[in-house]
Amino acid sequence: MRIVGLTGGIGSGKSTVSNLFKAHGIPVVDADIVARDVLKKGTGGWRKVVAAFGNQVLLPSGEVDRPKLGQIVFNDPDKRQLLNRLLAPYISTGILVEVLKLWMKGCKTIVLDVPLLFGANMDKWTKPIIVVWVDPQTQLKRLMSRDGTTTEGANSRIIAQMPLDLKKTKADLVIDNSGSLDDLNERFREALADVRKPLTWTEFGLCR
Ligand code: ATP
Repeated sequence: MRIVGLTGGIGSGKSTVSNLFKAHGIPVVDADIVARDVLKKGTGGWRKVVAAFGNQVLLPSGEVDRPKLGQIVFNDPDKRQLLNRLLAPYISTGILVEVLKLWMKGCKTIVLDVPLLFGANMDKWTKPIIVVWVDPQTQLKRLMSRDGTTTEGANSRIIAQMPLDLKKTKADLVIDNSGSLDDLNERFREALADVRKPLTWTEFGLCR
C-alpha cells in the first residue's frame, strides 16, 4: 500500500487538498480527528492529560475543554512539549490503526494528513511527502478571514509552527496554493499524476 504524506502550515490549505483526494476516491487518515479521539473521556490519553494538567482542563461533563487546554499550552512552550510527549504515542497508534483498517479493506493508496508530519517523525512512513505551500501574505489573509483573528493573533499561530519554507525543503512534491481554487485544482491534478506513478524498488517499504 502506498501511504502519501500530506502536510503544510496552518491555513495553507491541507484540508482543502485532503478534500480533493477524497473526491478522487483516495481515503484520508486525518491526524486532527485521531488527536481528538485520543482525548475522549476515559481513554488513556485523557487520563494522562488530567494527571498532568489537573481538573482545570475539564468541562463539567468530564470531557477535556480543548480550547482551554489549547490556550494553556499555546502560552507555555514547556507545557506544549509535555502535552505533545504525553499524547504522541496514542496519536501514532491511532493513526496506525486507521491505516491498518484501510489496508485490510484492500486500499492501494491512502493519504496521511498530519500537520506535524516532520515533528512526529511520521515522514518516515510516507512516500511521497506532499507539502501544501502558500506565500506568507496569502497565508495570513486566509487565516484571519477563516478564523476571524487579528493580524497579531494569526501571526503568533504561524510563528509557533515549524517554518513553512523549511517544510517545503523536506517535500517530495510541493503544491503551491497561493492562487485561486481553480489554480489549486490544476496543481492538484499534476500532483495526483505523480502520486499514481508506480513506486521504484528503492521507494518500496515503510522505512527510508
Ligand atoms: P489548518 O492547519 O488550520 O487546519 P489548513 O491547512 O487545513 O488549515 P484550509 O482550512 O484548507 O487550511 O484552508 C485555509 C482557509 O483558506 C480556508 O478558509 C479555505 O477555504 C481557504 N482556502 C484554501 N485554499 C484556497 C484558495 N486556493 N483560494 C481561496 N481560499 C482558499
